[in-house]
Amino acid sequence: MISKILIANRGEIALRVLRACKELGIATVAVHSTADADAMHVRLADESVCIGPPPSRESYLNIHQIVAACEITGADAVHPGYGFLSENAKFADILEAHGITFIGPTAEHIRLMGDKITAKLTAMELGIPVVPGSDGEVLPENALEIARQIGFPVLIKATAGGGGRGMKVAKTEADLDEALNTARTEAAAAFGNAAVYMEKYLEKPRHIEIQVVGDGEGNAIHLGERDCSLQRRHQKVWEEANSPALNVEQRTKIGQICADAMKKLKYRGAGTIEFLYENGEFYFIEMNTRLQVEHPVTEAITGIDLVHEQIRVASGGGLSVKQEDVTFQGHAIECRINAEDPRTFVPSPGTITHFHAPGGLGVRVDSGAYAGYRIPPYYDSLIGKLIVHGRTRVECMMRLRRVLDEFVVDGIKTTLPLFQDLVSNPDIANGDYDIHWLEHYLAGDKAH
Ligand code: ADP
Repeated sequence: MISKILIANRGEIALRVLRACKELGIATVAVHSTADADAMHVRLADESVCIGPPPSRESYLNIHQIVAACEITGADAVHPGYGFLSENAKFADILEAHGITFIGPTAEHIRLMGDKITAKLTAMELGIPVVPGSDGEVLPENALEIARQIGFPVLIKATAGGGGRGMKVAKTEADLDEALNTARTEAAAAFGNAAVYMEKYLEKPRHIEIQVVGDGEGNAIHLGERDCSLQRRHQKVWEEANSPALNVEQRTKIGQICADAMKKLKYRGAGTIEFLYENGEFYFIEMNTRLQVEHPVTEAITGIDLVHEQIRVASGGGLSVKQEDVTFQGHAIECRINAEDPRTFVPSPGTITHFHAPGGLGVRVDSGAYAGYRIPPYYDSLIGKLIVHGRTRVECMMRLRRVLDEFVVDGIKTTLPLFQDLVSNPDIANGDYDIHWLEHYLAGDKAH
């Protein structure tokens, strides 16, 4: 049994995990950098430990300090949230060596999915459909031959990739050398690993991902999909469940493929299998071995608390539901509220002078922000998430429109005005968008 959880994260996700712990009667320990001493997750936790100065490397990524904080407070488990150490296999290993439970998958599974080439080969073995591409690293000497086999346009991606970095498109043979060199340079700078691989570049796909949860003993379920096609610079800004593009048969089929794969793998905890979806076909791109930012839309339509499930599984209590008990009710949309300029996405840290979160039926706000809160400039700019649920997609969109009008965040720029534009756009209303839609829209292209 787990009796005290240290939350190795900050911001809205630290608060999110803390709420689950409280509901389960588990004591909580917050950790924070000196820049986050007055953060909401620190105020609400039972205990807190300062783990270092503002830079993440010296605090939220500092494994020694976090393990020491566990020892000092007697925490018997760590929830890593997302980002930071959540997909760090070494961290999982070190915790295990100290007899502390890592609330997540095994270090072996984190490693397997952390390397994108290995992940793709594993997915293929597990019966998951993948994007056609190279079956290993691509080097300058074999790039042209592989690209011709795949067929242009091709996408060059970093093996150690993440956050859309180290990714370059070559539309024709003439672009290949430059795309390869830039991708390798970017990958080396961002990840300390220049290795890249190649995929068929899909021109108008949607990004659809499947939520899975496993108990580590060979039982696993899927909780349907999320459509995260609205992205800028390969980063999600609006996510919905269900996808406007899928019907029940398609959902059940791809969901079952993913659940079966996780059973074979004996996967433990929550995970997300990401696909591109084009012309009725799914193409695996990666698996995230952690909780995702956008998990609340899945919670809204299934009624299942994913953090409760993660903690249950980590405690050896198994899954709380069977696949046949999972139902999908209505529709949910999440908007990521970033402290950023809504057109240029330039970060806008500063002090929030006034804050009013909306409420009412079907409304959830996950945020640690409050009036007087000073957003530190050191971390990512997500200050909250607005999740709206309705019985139908139309009801959900009408509710979202109402709720966006009520939401007040003064003193800084936020992405709220962007969502006010999107919620009244006809393409969005029709669910008619792909992964490039938002970039075109922001560039003011005529079709919008
Ligand atoms: P990262 O780990 O860097 O986020 P992903 O593999 O998850 O990389 O891809 C991020 C995004 O890049 C996808 O959501 C999609 O928008 C785009 N993308 C990735 N692979 C392809 C592809 N083969 N064709 C077209 N777009 C792609």
